[in-house]
Amino acid sequence: MTEKRLIKRREFLRLSSATVVAGLTGRLSGKPWTDMEVTVEEAARKVGRLARRKLGYSGREVSILIGAGDLAEAPTEAGILCGMNYWHKTNRWMGSGAPDSILKNREAHYCQVTVDRVGGNHRTGYIDEEEHFAYVKEALKRTGLGYFDDMQLHYGYHNTDEVKKERGFIRAFERLKKEGLVKHLCLSQHGYAGDSRVPGGQSAAEVLTAVVEDGLYEHAQFMYSYGADPEMDRFIEFARKKGFGTIAMKTARGIGRMKEDKAFMDKLPAEISPYNALVRWLTTSTRIDAAVIRVKSIDEFVETYSGAGKDLRARDAQAIAMMTAQADRTACRLCTECQSHCPQQVPIAEILRFERYAMDDHDWNKARKLYAKLSRKADVCANCGTCVPYCPQGLRIPDKLAEAHALLS
Ligand code: SF4
Ligand code: SF4
Repeated sequence: MTEKRLIKRREFLRLSSATVVAGLTGRLSGKPWTDMEVTVEEAARKVGRLARRKLGYSGREVSILIGAGDLAEAPTEAGILCGMNYWHKTNRWMGSGAPDSILKNREAHYCQVTVDRVGGNHRTGYIDEEEHFAYVKEALKRTGLGYFDDMQLHYGYHNTDEVKKERGFIRAFERLKKEGLVKHLCLSQHGYAGDSRVPGGQSAAEVLTAVVEDGLYEHAQFMYSYGADPEMDRFIEFARKKGFGTIAMKTARGIGRMKEDKAFMDKLPAEISPYNALVRWLTTSTRIDAAVIRVKSIDEFVETYSGAGKDLRARDAQAIAMMTAQADRTACRLCTECQSHCPQQVPIAEILRFERYAMDDHDWNKARKLYAKLSRKADVCANCGTCVPYCPQGLRIPDKLAEAHALLS
């Protein structure tokens, strides 16, 4: 172990053993979360062993909740103790190197490198074989991981035509695979239907269906949360039949703001936390293989992950119904159904995604930075109302946009 890593490890243990849960609002076990004190080891004991499921054609056994490279250190270590073995976005470890507890047991973990388009953002950028090839090599050098198990096209393809014709990412993958540096191909897929900056953009489900038919990718991440989403449910069934792996992301729709709404929290059934109910639902009552859920601290780790694989009790189901109704009134599901109908070409879903980062993740910095980069902001909305009938949630989109502009400007 290098000196740098020894210091890092020592510092981490000092911090983790002193980790104290504070500021929680859940009400499990009859004891307020605010009264609990949890170390990494205790957190892992409370959550228990995470079940595993096969993911994609390779049949790799992956924990039903996966980790991510931007997870804080204490939840990462607790996750490892619980058997979390798939790590999304491990290129985020390029600054500090991968955690020692993963490096020392490298073969026990699946580490994914997430690769962005180049020369712009996920709408305007392009796929470039050489740049992707070079990026993965650099990420390997700086993380110290030796190889990546999965190479992920971040944000995915714009449409089915691009899936068929643009093969640069796949060629970069194949070259790296020949060198033993990557093993499996995957993508995260956003929706581009009606996006004025993406000519011919299609929905996530349409693109993913083409990806499965193409047969080269092994699994995908996509937005999935409570509330009816028939198009994505049809895709998930199709993926299951084909043996294609599915991972839900952006799963906690509107929970951040729910937890701050005392009137809403008081109405939830006794001893129910929204995050815990969400995880019970995701891991026992949906057809996805795994999910990624952002937690910011060891306290949220316990509250959230302790629901993994546990039965959805009647009171959890009741909470999910209440959360769905609440989220439908407040938090956009990012389906993009509205976008093609806007004569002003307002990037509605994009703006409301950033609003979710602010209101639910409380990541104001990220939300404001991303909003500042938009060339068309919410203030170009003419309040014409054309988009409103197309929103499956019945959101008052012009009002939401005005609020988002005030929050993020
Ligand atoms: S209300 Fe605003 S966002 Fe909706 S269609 Fe009209 S201009 Fe576009
Ligand atoms: S505003 Fe409504 S239609 Fe538009 S992306 Fe959000 S949920 Fe979908």
